[in-house]
Amino acid sequence: MDRLKFLGFDIDPVTTQEATVRVAALIAHGGMHQVVTLNPEYLYRAQTERDLGRILEQAALVTVDGIGLQWALRLSGLRVPERVTGIDLMLHICRRAVFEGWRVFLLGGRPGVAEGAATRLLQDLPGLRIVGAHHGYFSPEEEPAVIAKVKSAAPQLLFVGLGAPRQERWIHANRQTLAPLVAIGVGGSFDVVAGRVKRAPVWMRRLGLEWLGRLLREPWRWRRMLVLPLFALFVIRVRLFGR
Ligand code: UDP
Repeated sequence: MDRLKFLGFDIDPVTTQEATVRVAALIAHGGMHQVVTLNPEYLYRAQTERDLGRILEQAALVTVDGIGLQWALRLSGLRVPERVTGIDLMLHICRRAVFEGWRVFLLGGRPGVAEGAATRLLQDLPGLRIVGAHHGYFSPEEEPAVIAKVKSAAPQLLFVGLGAPRQERWIHANRQTLAPLVAIGVGGSFDVVAGRVKRAPVWMRRLGLEWLGRLLREPWRWRRMLVLPLFALFVIRVRLFGR
């Protein structure tokens, strides 16, 4: 499938189902691969923060997460079949992992959250091979031990929930040590799966209002969301006047 070029970077116009097929191919291929579920904040920052851009350029798969990004693409005459969020992709991949026998590791969230998410996942998918879980609040001194724990569990899939863009930077910085596996940044997904944070109701998601649901539940997000109007203005400016 042809990648879309948007604001200088390649984006994969895939459904969650197709993204899972691509991940399966990456696992079969071997080596180290990074998957980014891209949100507008990340793409906006990647315009000026070179390292974030480089991560996108080297990612094996970049999906569109976030209604703001879907809107911006549409304004530019580009279409993706659906939003592929970190949590939806993770759940979809886990369902397939049961049949494929893939080993899965969960890294991130407050202490106990990744373990809680693992317990919930195993309740729903009893055959899932979760080979490890670790929280995401480790210090630089503790980091080698965390990486050693992941390595010794030898997962084929590593879900990293440290929040964007920290998780993307972390995966990229450690890619050589972590290889071979497919690493996917999933933001706050473990909080949702573990039942600590409720996701916006389906009707809100269908209307493209998941961001509003998050804002209502976690009001401290308003400051982070300030980048969204800047992103919108930037997209409109590029559309009207070019770069
Ligand atoms: N987190 C972490 N380590 C940190 C900071 C954050 O593991 O040093 C976790 C945090 O507990 C939460 C997730 O990263 O589970 C960030 O979630 P958020 O919803 O803010 O991320 P987003 O989905 O917006 O990328």
